Parts: sequence; C-alpha cells; structure tokens
Amino acid sequence: MAAIVMFDDGSHRNVLLEDYSDGAAVQANQHLIIDGRSGMILDPGGHKVYSKVLAETLQRIGAGGRLDHVFLSHQDPDIVAAVNGWLMTTDAIAHVSKLWVRFVPHFGLDRLVIDRLKGIPDAGQWMRLGDTELAIVPAHFLHSAGNFQVYDPRSRILYTGDLGASVDVPYREVPDFDAHAPNMLGFHQRYMASGSALRAWADMARGLDIEIIAPQHGALFRGKEMVGKFIDWISTLEAGIDLLTKNGGYAMPPRSGT
Ligand code: FE
Repeated sequence: MAAIVMFDDGSHRNVLLEDYSDGAAVQANQHLIIDGRSGMILDPGGHKVYSKVLAETLQRIGAGGRLDHVFLSHQDPDIVAAVNGWLMTTDAIAHVSKLWVRFVPHFGLDRLVIDRLKGIPDAGQWMRLGDTELAIVPAHFLHSAGNFQVYDPRSRILYTGDLGASVDVPYREVPDFDAHAPNMLGFHQRYMASGSALRAWADMARGLDIEIIAPQHGALFRGKEMVGKFIDWISTLEAGIDLLTKNGGYAMPPRSGT
C-alpha cells in the first residue's frame, strides 16, 4: 500500500492510501484527512484492505490523535463491508446517507457500535474536523440513490466517490484528459443514473473552488484546467436512464443457443 500526501499546510493534511489488492477486487483509493489531531477516513473499503488501511490511518494520525469520522459515500461493499471493524477498534462515528442506515447493519454491525452509525440528511451537512469544517455535499443517484461527496475547503479537494472513477489506468494523476476519458466512459454510462443528475452535479461543482477531484477508483484530476475539463465532460454525458430509454427500454432476455 502506498501513501501519497496530496496536501499539507502544517496542520492540515490530505493523504491518499492507494490499494492494488490483487485478485478480483476492483482497485480502490482510500482517502484520509487529518486536521491537527483529528482524522477522517473516507470510504475505508472491505475486509481485504481493512487491517492495512487501519494501521496506516492510525500511524498517520499519530499518538495522541484520534479517528473521529468514518465517511461512507454510499452503501456498496467496497466502501462499507469492514465498517464494523472500524467502529470496534476506534471511537469514530460512521456517517452514511440516512437511506442506508438500516441496511448497513446487514454487513454485521455489533450491537455495541450500532449507535455510532449516523444518517446524513438528504441536503448534506457540515462536519467539523479539528479546526476545519468539511462540507458533505449531496450527489444522489451518482451512482447510489443516497450518495454524498466530501468537499474540503482547506485543501480544495472534492472527493467524488464513484464519480470520475477509472479502472486499470497506469497513472495516479490524469496526464491528458481526452486520452483518459475513454477509461471512464463505460462505467459512467452504466453506473450513473442519468444525464440530468450529472448536469445537476456539474452545476453545483462549478460553484466550488476545486484544485483536485479525487475519485475512489483510479486516477485523480489535478489543477483548475483538468478539473474544468472533467466537469464539462460529465455535464454532456448521457447515462443510465437516458440510454435505457434510447435503446428501447426493458425487454425479455435473449435465449442463448437452443
Ligand atoms: Fe459504488
């Protein structure tokens, strides 16, 4: 596991923990924000990476520091599966959309920690981390029905979860947007709910001061120009329901062979 410091102003740090877990699991990025002695882990992942990410997180926060928040952008297993371990070994509060609060316990939440899983209201909220306030911004239907992203005004990083994800790219930062876009296309067309949701997100994102867009899978977008290109691209995409209706809606499955 590699740890890359994306931002550090002395009291506020944003660290990327990169995981290339072998086998069938999709590559995932775990993000850690530390302000003073207080830490937040974003989308901590499943059981395969749990012990490595936990050890790296606690070491980065340091003695005397504390993990205060576990942010869950949505309810998928690559994000939530190990949440019981995080709550059992730390005093953190886990946050997930209020839509998923009663579903996440199916991953096996111990009774002792269940009160530390909190629902995020649909409109989002502000969350204190040390001396900084982070914005938990709505990104519903991108891709989950109850879906949030984290905007850090201090580092100007927007953590977009599955939005902007790419798979199997050999670089950490996107060097050339046009060459990179095909690596995102199929995933966004199938996993994102609709072009109108993407445009609504783009309208919100254009109002934010963003230096880095950091997805949970694949390469990140650094710099205003690259960020602008991503927002422009996403705002014109047809996805999900758009393509479903265009392709004739639902039908019985084709029979194979016989
Ligand atoms: Fe997902």
